[in-house]
Amino acid sequence: MKKVLVCREKDPLETRVALIPDDVKKLTAMGFEFKVVSGAGVKSGFADEAYKAAGAAIIDSEEAGYADSEIVVRIMKPQSAKGLKKDTLHLSYLDPFNEKELLADFAANDVQAVSLEMIPRTTLAQKMDVQSSQTSLAGYVAVLNAAAKLPKILPMMVTPAGTISPARVFIIGVGVAGLQAIATAKRLGARVDAFDTRPVVEEQVRSLGANFVKIDLGEMGQTAQGYAKELTPEQIAKQQEAQAKTCEKSNIVITTAKVFGRKAPRLIKKDVLDRMQPGSIVVDMAVSTGGNVEGSKLFENVVTDNGVTIMSGDLLERQVPYDASKMFSGNISAFLTHFYNKESKEFEVKLEDEIMKGCLITKGGQIIHERFK
Ligand code: NAD
Repeated sequence: MKKVLVCREKDPLETRVALIPDDVKKLTAMGFEFKVVSGAGVKSGFADEAYKAAGAAIIDSEEAGYADSEIVVRIMKPQSAKGLKKDTLHLSYLDPFNEKELLADFAANDVQAVSLEMIPRTTLAQKMDVQSSQTSLAGYVAVLNAAAKLPKILPMMVTPAGTISPARVFIIGVGVAGLQAIATAKRLGARVDAFDTRPVVEEQVRSLGANFVKIDLGEMGQTAQGYAKELTPEQIAKQQEAQAKTCEKSNIVITTAKVFGRKAPRLIKKDVLDRMQPGSIVVDMAVSTGGNVEGSKLFENVVTDNGVTIMSGDLLERQVPYDASKMFSGNISAFLTHFYNKESKEFEVKLEDEIMKGCLITKGGQIIHERFK
């Protein structure tokens, strides 16, 4: 397996490309062969000519490349697996917890589908972890979007005309996105508070110069993969109450709280939004998985009666497509390299490999992944 097709994303809102010319060049030198759909990299700053110079052939549509490709790479999940030839290795996000029909479709078309969100969070697989590379950028963009909309500046300023106090930013959920949001808000001069249910995070928050809000919710913790455990309804109610005061005095609140494979916890309800200062901004980065904030809407800004703006925080990495593509491409390139056999000069689907086992969902006409069988 060495013939790779790089698709042009079909969603008009998507700005990224899954592989950039530099990585195409590197992988071509190793023995891979590339076809790239014309215009695939245009929105992220990578022209067809750059792919051609990297050794790829440019084709008009992905459908035209299916018959002669063994590996198909894209970012977002496709509508269906129809047209892909038998045994094609398909790499993309698949949203496997919510896309049962799509998984069945991949199996029915006898395609080997990899779900990039299921790549295990191990040290070895870190360089292939698209979740981390993309949400880290999203955490940065979330702060910039909120800062641009806030009717106040973030740093403290002492001027002859008076002193401006620093803005207060509260980050709820300090995983990959939250850590980057803290770092960004600190760089812009804000005073930052943060909270997470995983106790290990406190140290990381402090090391970034932010204050960790202490809330005792009893038994909390994390899974072996580093994800948060789901809270009970009583624990969530306690958290809502305990963090309300910090929300009220914050100019910007960014929520990133997710529980892998489950609905995100509802952490900020209307009563707290009602008590926040007019002009404050709340960015809900869990909006697509149920939402941390009451009233948040996917890809929309909602202004409450008392003038608080709730911003959609989904897929913010699309606002920085050059670097988002570069990092996504680095992840895909690491995946292709890891399974490349230098002697046979072929990519091998090694079923016994922990990384492959973690992310390969369908093979041989069946759903083979334990979690989705
Ligand atoms: P995520 O997107 O699933 O969740 C975001 C954050 O929300 C997490 O920190 C989680 O603890 C937190 N959260 C969940 N419920 C909450 C609640 N009720 N209140 C407040 N916060 C809540 O997670 P993520 O950011 O993708 O990753 C989480 C962690 O996984 C990372 O910080 C890291 O330690 C680990 N990780 C490891 C690797 C690796 O080893 N390769 C790679 C990436 C991440």
